[in-house]
Amino acid sequence: GQELFASTSMGISIYPTDASDASGLIKNADTAMYAAKNMGRNGYQFYDRSMNESTLAKLEFDVAMRRGLSRGEFVLHYQPRIDTRTGAVVGCEALIRWNHPTQGLILPGQFIGIAEDSGFIISMGKWVLDQACWRQRAWRDMGLPRIPIAINLSALHFVRPEIVTEIHEALTRHGIEGRDIELEVTETVFVQDTEDSTAILDDLCAMGIKVVIDDFGVGFSSLNYLQRMSVNALKIDRSFVNEAPHNSRNGAIVKAIVSMAKSLGLGVIAEGVETSEEKDFLMGIGCHEMQGYWFGRPVPEKEFAQCHLSGDRSVQILPNDNYTT
Ligand code: C2E
Ligand code: CA
Ligand code: CA
Repeated sequence: GQELFASTSMGISIYPTDASDASGLIKNADTAMYAAKNMGRNGYQFYDRSMNESTLAKLEFDVAMRRGLSRGEFVLHYQPRIDTRTGAVVGCEALIRWNHPTQGLILPGQFIGIAEDSGFIISMGKWVLDQACWRQRAWRDMGLPRIPIAINLSALHFVRPEIVTEIHEALTRHGIEGRDIELEVTETVFVQDTEDSTAILDDLCAMGIKVVIDDFGVGFSSLNYLQRMSVNALKIDRSFVNEAPHNSRNGAIVKAIVSMAKSLGLGVIAEGVETSEEKDFLMGIGCHEMQGYWFGRPVPEKEFAQCHLSGDRSVQILPNDNYTT
């Protein structure tokens, strides 16, 4: 009794140019079909040799990532989140980097997509979770101020109910509490809106873990999930923040997000704050929690502890010039 809409993606391979036997033709047509899906579905693609080459390159990259993880080549860098009313560091975000033996530091933009396609993102996410919890424990043992570490989780984690147990186990293993971590997820998680993701968010909330919607504003326009699902704060996407002081439309969007968050009783964080103008604009409209190069770039753990956590304070903010990328 349910109306369904189906779309068709077709891959085409041609004898004898693309393959000389049936199984080769079908295999290549399959590759071409995935290319058609990647190009937005509901279309067709002819097979092309380069499709296999790029699949192979991705496959090799994926194998290298898996090997890299087992060899300890991945690291987390930390970026401070500031409450501009007091100047205090009130949290930090863990951001993954791949310390590649020959290519140097690789940023997540280059590997998250491939990791999501191959499913490697699940093991990577578990590693990030464990590493961040361990770091939290270490900072606590060093007597440093207690601030939550925000962890980015891919939407793919939220179709796996095991994630709740995995998070619970990580907290227990390192002797920390739910309030010591925060999870940053994108709107995709809420739009999936399966029973699973709703239940997962409820369970996380019950564990005292805050859930923040990352990149807020660039995803989907439907907002009704905000009424129904357990979330604690919105993180305004950098693209709005950067233009806000000069572009009246962006400024209006940022204002609207801040006022919506407030009326819904949610926290609001601005990310990607790079100038004092942006900071002042945000403070002027009542958004006080901020993150961005103006306050500090993501840095290795030692530097983070030294610059942002140690001493008699959690208030010292170093100007961004003190860091190199
Ligand atoms: P994101 O969660 O939106 O993280 C913020 C990104 O903006 C980071 O890039 C950060 O270095 C950068 N950034 C922070 N402040 C500023 C600023 O003032 N100006 C500019 N231009 N950029 C700023 P990064 O580290 O390259 O990470 C990119 C994305 O990769 C992240 O975006 C996140 O979606 C993903 N990611 C990072 N670490 C993880 C992880 O452990 N797990 C998963 N699943 N995704 C991750
Ligand atoms: Ca994030
Ligand atoms: Ca973001």
